[in-house]
Amino acid sequence: MKNISLIIIAMILASCSGEGSQSSSTSASTADAKVYRWKMITTWPKNLPGLGTAPERLAQKLRVMSAGRLDIKVYGAGELVGALGVFEAVSEGAAQMGHGAAYYWRGKIPAAAFFATVPFGMNAQEMNGWLHYGGGLELWRELYAPFNLVPFAAGNSGVQMAGWFNKEINSVEDLKGLKMRIPGLGGEVLARAGGTPVVLPGGEIFTALQTGVIDATEWVGPYNDLAFSLHTAAKYYYYPGWHEPGPTLEAMVNKEAWDSLPADLQMMIEVATKAINEDMLSEFTARNNAALVTLVEEHGVQLRRLPDDVLAKLKDISKEVVAEAGLENELAGRIYNSYTSFQQDVAKYHSYSEQAYLNAR
Ligand code: CA
Repeated sequence: MKNISLIIIAMILASCSGEGSQSSSTSASTADAKVYRWKMITTWPKNLPGLGTAPERLAQKLRVMSAGRLDIKVYGAGELVGALGVFEAVSEGAAQMGHGAAYYWRGKIPAAAFFATVPFGMNAQEMNGWLHYGGGLELWRELYAPFNLVPFAAGNSGVQMAGWFNKEINSVEDLKGLKMRIPGLGGEVLARAGGTPVVLPGGEIFTALQTGVIDATEWVGPYNDLAFSLHTAAKYYYYPGWHEPGPTLEAMVNKEAWDSLPADLQMMIEVATKAINEDMLSEFTARNNAALVTLVEEHGVQLRRLPDDVLAKLKDISKEVVAEAGLENELAGRIYNSYTSFQQDVAKYHSYSEQAYLNAR
């Protein structure tokens, strides 16, 4: 099956590159022979299950699809640059490609968070609809263009968990003074609820929680959180992940590096990032439950749902924070309008489809 799929992909790609090279067969054969050796830097620990294996799989797919012409070496966080230095390094061309999450760059580009995740916003399926058929990706590319970057959706964890806490959260009062690792717009919501958000890359979370530098953390979900042994540093595991209902991960390509590629290799990146975008969601969907069973049954983790009044308060604050993020400039306004109107429309239909079905199941 796998071989047949690869042959079909190769045939499709061959026909694509054929169209693009009709005008000059000589230059196409020259381009075909050239090998592009790229670096992909990531915000994830090397080979971390799910998040860290996705860029490795992306590079592997591209190597095979291109018969070795696009040869990308993947670097974990801290190997070439620190996790939070990825955006700048790819922007400046120190690496041709990066893999991360757009909300990490909110300090530099406030509206970037819309392309990762929005508190009480869209889930994975809805994000993919917005990005690929609702104008989202075009806005994302417009937002990154001044930074010399071409972004792609390249992974999704699905709805995350609310996180790990060393005390129970029984009321909004319990969030006051809480020092929690939580990136993006969710962090601002926590701040307005009285907490102190901290942005830390994944590789630094465990030590910070274990040593008491932070009181609580969110990371991803059972599959990734178990890999980080977060259950050995905190007892209570809360859901649902109100702050990250289906975060999109990103691949970004330096603009000059992108422009230097022939059309067939560009198309391979388009196709391979879409494959990874779907692949990660499938992997998390398949593995999260088994990891949660292990956490609860083998490690005695206390699973808790955030109380309704806490969720209601966080939702109210989220509306304000998200609306304010849309006021930062003209482009942020267009992104906000596009995102929120797509969410309203899709939620209306999903009330008759996905949601109605899940309620009935
Ligand atoms: Ca997270």
